[in-house]
Amino acid sequence: MAFPTIVDSDQMRLLYKYTKYNDANDLDLVGWAKATWGVPLAMENDARAALVGEWQHGAGTGLDNLVMVTIGTGVGSAALVNGRLLKGSHYLAGNLGGHMAVNFDGGRCNCGNVGCLESEASSWALPGILKRQPGYAESPFAKGEKPDFEAVFRLAAAGESFALAVRERCLEAWATGILNLVYAYDPERVVIGGGVMHSADVILPFIQNKINHAAWLPANAVEVVAAQEPDWAGVLGMGHLALKTIQKN
Ligand SMILES: [Zn+2]
Repeated sequence: MAFPTIVDSDQMRLLYKYTKYNDANDLDLVGWAKATWGVPLAMENDARAALVGEWQHGAGTGLDNLVMVTIGTGVGSAALVNGRLLKGSHYLAGNLGGHMAVNFDGGRCNCGNVGCLESEASSWALPGILKRQPGYAESPFAKGEKPDFEAVFRLAAAGESFALAVRERCLEAWATGILNLVYAYDPERVVIGGGVMHSADVILPFIQNKINHAAWLPANAVEVVAAQEPDWAGVLGMGHLALKTIQKN
């Protein structure tokens, strides 16, 4: 099972009350899996599961140092360092790329901080981002255009100036946040997934260019690529982790 929250993958517990499953912390999922299915349980954070799926079966095969970033409703992240899934002492390591601040003057995030990557550029934050952008009142979004990234990228591609400015701002936020992750975890490749990757043709070159100009990295040291298994990476990753759990039991 993969969850969009912090997961203790040793004791098989959810560590943070996520709004989608606010009673799940108290569930004995290990006992449930044993009683219902007669099998051991593997549990992980959803971004870590997706990273393992891409590592074993997708865009990261054969590499030992990977960063996975999923940009959708929020921004999820995970890191593989020297062939090991990074977890840290509180199971946070690598997972909080969406809550690393990229703007200390930014908007309030649902985590309590300000200017997180996620509150500066994600689907849940986009309606507020659009309203704070100068020129909103005259923009297509004040006149009924749906406040989502599909509309932002579609209008920007057609040259609409307000959408272009919002697209540029979000691209800068993602590139800044992902460069922070590159500095933190020193990957060979960054794999990006999530709903916004319908616009990968704009997003990937922008982020690759930002990383190519980062002074601390050798030329062409880090490749920025799209996820190869956008729908199945989490399942494939949990399959790999479940097999390891079975081998241990
Ligand atoms: Zn945050």
